[in-house]
Formats: sequence, structure tokens, C-alpha cells
Amino acid sequence: MSSTSLSGWGRTNASVVTLRTPRNEEDILNEFSAGTRLIARGLGRSYGDAAQLSGGVVLDNRELDGIGPISADGVVTVGAGVSIDELLAVSMPQGWFVPVTPGTRQVTMGGAIAADVHGKNHHVDGSIANHVLSMRLVTPIGAFTLSPTNESDLFWATMGAMGLTGVVTSITLQMLAIETNQMLVDTDRHGDLESVMAAMSDGDAEYRYSVAWVDCMTRGAHMGRAILTRGDHATAADVKKVALKGPRKAKLSIPFQAPRGLLNQWTVRAFNELWFRSAPRHEEEENQSLSSFFYPLDGVGQWNLLYGKRGFVQYQFCVPDQMGDTVVDVIKRLSESRVASFLAVLKRFGPANPSPLSFPLSGWTLALDLPIGSDALPSVLDDLDELVAVATGRVYFAKDARLRADQVRAMYPRLDEFQKVKSRVDPNDQLTSDLARRLDLVGK
Ligand SMILES: Cc1cc2nc3c(=O)[nH]c(=O)nc-3n(C[C@H](O)[C@H](O)[C@H](O)COP(=O)(O)OP(=O)(O)OC[C@H]3O[C@@H](n4cnc5c(N)ncnc54)[C@H](O)[C@@H]3O)c2cc1C
Repeated sequence: MSSTSLSGWGRTNASVVTLRTPRNEEDILNEFSAGTRLIARGLGRSYGDAAQLSGGVVLDNRELDGIGPISADGVVTVGAGVSIDELLAVSMPQGWFVPVTPGTRQVTMGGAIAADVHGKNHHVDGSIANHVLSMRLVTPIGAFTLSPTNESDLFWATMGAMGLTGVVTSITLQMLAIETNQMLVDTDRHGDLESVMAAMSDGDAEYRYSVAWVDCMTRGAHMGRAILTRGDHATAADVKKVALKGPRKAKLSIPFQAPRGLLNQWTVRAFNELWFRSAPRHEEEENQSLSSFFYPLDGVGQWNLLYGKRGFVQYQFCVPDQMGDTVVDVIKRLSESRVASFLAVLKRFGPANPSPLSFPLSGWTLALDLPIGSDALPSVLDDLDELVAVATGRVYFAKDARLRADQVRAMYPRLDEFQKVKSRVDPNDQLTSDLARRLDLVGK
């Protein structure tokens, strides 16, 4: 047990907490019996304050470990503290990949469930919840085995609930069969936002994975210019040499915090320009390793230190299909504000799952990395919240550090339904977090 200061990946809003490391379900049940207020934590890759509880207890999930054998049809049971990186090191040599992955493999399976993470394949495969066969959850009233057919309301309420229904201890997951560790990737440069959105609407269904990297700093005719990359797993017939190795470790790491002001509207604009020009205009079936296609940022450890002492926010929202114009309005608002913003990530979402708090809904999602520093940033982000709420869209809790509670009910209209399930298993509100307090997620 130790007192420590924790923050999310964006390095804003640190809190002092008591950190404990349960080894099994009994340790967690003992915490609840003692009346402890707590929240679980994985590898701290959520950007804001979801995995911390000021003045309370944080349960580090990393010792809830262990990877079971992978069955002939790709079913595996893993501890909630196992990272996707650790799982892939074992599963890829046997020809299995995770069915859904975020843009970093340095997340735990417990964290992935809590955020109901999505990848570049949501339009085809949905989010991680769609591939979970069952899981164990420890709550203040006891431990449950949950599945879409057993205690299904608690199963779905846990997906995307940011740890607020209990501590997940293990997950049984259906993996995806792969023949090689290569991808076949098509790349297209688009000169403006309208063109890339049209290409995604028309053509994404033909690819399992799709993502567009959008420049949100260029104004005028080239506003929202983008590089669209789409692809699928290469089969053995597609590659010269079949290899199935786990991903390689990061070779570089940022050794110290960057000086204040390193990332400003000029340096970021120059970076975006360089990156846009270095991408091919059009390329088909390029062979890329799984690591560089899915995890380009994992090549550099601790890259969040580049944002300096004040850190950064990631703003990710989604809006329904018919409100695609909101994506245009958001990028317009940003490019006009001259707030520095790195390449944004634009993806299509397929249908939502039954979870009341899961983020994805059928339509568009855009994620922006914004360094703290510009005086205009808070009011720009408030404006974006308005645009998103009016469009019946929502902001992603796993990335959030600054949304206001009064916006949440409009964005997550099934919050009451979630709270009802939560109060059944947590009658004394022992499960809470800085995020939950800030956004009134667990009621008063
Ligand atoms: C570079 C980068 C790229 C990303 N890309 C994507 C993306 O493409 N798609 C996407 O969906 N997300 C993405 N994310 C966000 C990330 O996937 C989520 O925030 C994920 O929850 C982080 O997992 P973690 O193990 O680090 O958990 P933490 O950040 O430590 O915790 C996140 C949440 O999980 C809860 N939690 C952790 N362990 C448990 C447990 N055992 N039981 C119950 N609750 C638990 C915590 O209470 C907290 O609410 C990205 C993050 C980064 C840094």
C-alpha cells in the first residue's frame, strides 16, 4: 500500500491516491467488505481522470494476470491485468490476433472492457464487447460470471462503464485467426474533407480496417485534407515469407519532459505539412507489418512527455451518420481558432451494442490531440461540446478530462438505466472515480 500521485495519459488533473495491488478476487472482496471507496486502474492509457480517485483507493489490476491456453477455435481466457501487448506475444505465434484493438497495445484487458474500446474495424466488427464470451466481475455484493446471456444487464452495463460497476478479474475472448503478421494496405491522399468523407462512406465496407488522418490546421480550400489508409490481414498467399511473431518492443523512448512551448501552432503546422507530403498520393496493397499499421505510436515509449509539463487533452466525439456535417463544423471551428492540433483520426462506426454507456454509435468519430497552452482552447472545446450535443453525438469518457456534467445526460441518454444496474450491485456507491464525480455519473 502506498500514497501516490496519479494522472492519465494526458498528464492533466493529477490526484493523490492510495494504491493497492489485489492478487485475486478475495483481495477485492475484502476491500469492499471494509467499506473502501475505490476504482480499478490498468496501464493508465485513458487520457483523463477515469482511473484515479482523489483521497481514495486505486486498485492496480496488473497482478490479475495469467493467459490460458488458446483453444483450436481461438477462445482464450486472460486475467484483466494482462495487456494486449502481452496477449499478442503469446497469441500471434499461434495465429491469433485480438478481434478489436485500440491504437496502442499498452492497455490492459480490464481497461479495454471498461472503455469498451473500438478499433479501425468498428464498422465491420463492432467494439471489444462484441467478442467477449464471458467475464468475471467483483462487486460490493459479490462476484459474478457475466455473459450476454447470464446477468446480461450487468454484462452490458459494465461495458464502457469506466470501472464503475466493479472490478473485472478475467475475460474469455474470441480471437481472430490470422495467417501472417502482415497487412495489405491501400493509401489515398485527399485534398479536402468532403472528398475523404465521401470515399469512406462509399468504400469502407470493402475493408476490414479503415482510418483517415486529418490535418485540422489547414484553412480554405484544403481544409480537412487527409490520408486515408484501409486494409486487411494478408493471407499466406499474399506474402513472400510467412511469419507469425509477436510485436517488437519500442526502440525509442522520450527521456524527459519537453520544454514549454515546443508544440505550438507553428511547429505542429510544420509537422502536419511534412507528414501530408510524405504520404503517397495513391498506393495499393502495400505490405505493412501489423505493428506499424495498428500501433504507429507504440514505436516511441512515453511520447506523451513531448507535450511538456502542462500535458494535453484528447478530444474524441462521435455523431450519427446523418449528422456528418458536424465533423465539418468541428474542423472548421478548430482551423479558424488556430489552436494547435496534431493530425486528427477520423473513423466510421457501425451499429452500437446494447450497452447503456458504450461510446460508439453508427456514424462518424473524430479524435484530436490538443496541447494545453493556448488561451483559446477551453472556449473552443466548450463550443465543440455544444456542436456534438446538438448533433445527438457524444464525447468519449476514456479520452475526456474536461467535459461538464450538464452535457452528459444529453450525450448519454441511457445514464439512468446504467445507474439502476449499478446501484443494485453497489448500493453504497463504493465504486467511484474523479471522472465519475466530475460528471455526476454515479448520482448524488
Ligand atoms: C495512444 C493511444 C491510443 C488509443 N487509441 C484508442 C482507440 O483507438 N480506441 C479506443 O477505444 N481507445 C483508445 N485509447 C484509449 C484506451 O484504449 C483506453 O483508455 C483504455 O481504457 C486504457 O486501458 P488501461 O489498461 O490503460 O486502463 P486505465 O487507463 O488505467 O483505466 C481506464 C478505465 O478502465 C478501468 N479499469 C481498468 N482496469 C479495470 C478492471 N480490471 N476492472 C474494471 N475496470 C477497470 C479504470 O477504472 C478506468 O475507468 C487509446 C489510448 C492511447 C494512449
